[in-house]
Amino acid sequence: VTTFDDTRDELTLVDHHCHGIVLRDLERVEFESMLNEASRPSPLGTSLFDSMLGLAVRRWCSPVLDLQPLASAEEYLARRNELGIDDVSRRLLHATNTVDFLVDTGFAPGAIGPERLAELAGGRAHEVIRLESLAQDFLAAGTRADDVPERVVESLQTTTAVGAKSVAAYRSGLALPDTKPDAAVVVGALADCQPGPDGSYRIVSPAVHGWLAWTALEEGLPLQFHVGYGDNDVDLSRGDPLLLTSFLRRTEDIGVPVLLLHNYPFHRNAGYLAQVFEHVFMDVGLATHNTGALSEVVIRESLELVPFGKMLYSSDAFGLPELYFLAALLFRRGLSRVLDGLVSAGEASSADATRIEALILNQNARRVYSLGPDIEA
Ligand SMILES: [Zn+2]
Repeated sequence: VTTFDDTRDELTLVDHHCHGIVLRDLERVEFESMLNEASRPSPLGTSLFDSMLGLAVRRWCSPVLDLQPLASAEEYLARRNELGIDDVSRRLLHATNTVDFLVDTGFAPGAIGPERLAELAGGRAHEVIRLESLAQDFLAAGTRADDVPERVVESLQTTTAVGAKSVAAYRSGLALPDTKPDAAVVVGALADCQPGPDGSYRIVSPAVHGWLAWTALEEGLPLQFHVGYGDNDVDLSRGDPLLLTSFLRRTEDIGVPVLLLHNYPFHRNAGYLAQVFEHVFMDVGLATHNTGALSEVVIRESLELVPFGKMLYSSDAFGLPELYFLAALLFRRGLSRVLDGLVSAGEASSADATRIEALILNQNARRVYSLGPDIEA
């Protein structure tokens, strides 16, 4: 499979944040609903293919499915269904050369699990546990609010997950308490949480989000935060990573990594936080494939401040194997282009460029999550 012209594209990837794919053939409306963060194509007669991401699908995924670059959306989807989703997924996932997938299992409507994903891609899967889902599931199972904190701690102590994730940005926002909330306050907030019509719970309490985040760090689990760009459930004005500043200042001494996911359009703010707090790391997953051919700018702006040992790769792909493929291709290409520019200007050596790429694409994640050696080592 031809991906793009780059001599360093054989470097293996660690995708430190992604979700499962939907392993069935899709009608156009379903495909478009998973294409980006909108819930569906606009009823005003537009197509989500008319976007930077849509162009990238037609430009780069078409050849993987044996079509000419920039095949029409109709041709692309017809070929996709003709080949069948198993073949399509295998082709696109293999082409990413990802060896380790860290899968957030907290949001996966209709998607395959981590093991099946890794099997299709020829890599390894690791679970990341979603903190709010963990607590909500205890409530839904009838656990008394007073007992939930202890159950959560037990789960975090015995989990095989390599990290935890907070979705506070989707709920009460990122202005989390800068001290660990009292157990009594947390139990009170959990007791106030009422089930929806389907019996499921939805935690929306800064005290509970804060307590979960503090607890995960105290239990030694690297902690991911959703930051910035996301679906229409997120209030972007409360998703700026700078809102986490006090929390980060007060948790630095715990010494456990905090990973700021996505960050767009606040990636420069995230780069600043990664520079000044020793336990903070960042990525620009999700933004890379959504900005398509323009993603090089996002990568360049992130690299202005972030130390090279603090930047990671993630796809944040969900649903479509195309998103895994495009995230990997565009991130590798954008990073290479920025670094090649530095090398040709005499601002870095080729050896520097190769070393920085290896850190960002693979080694940083391996170190942060203690993943062990590369699959090929
Ligand atoms: Zn995600």
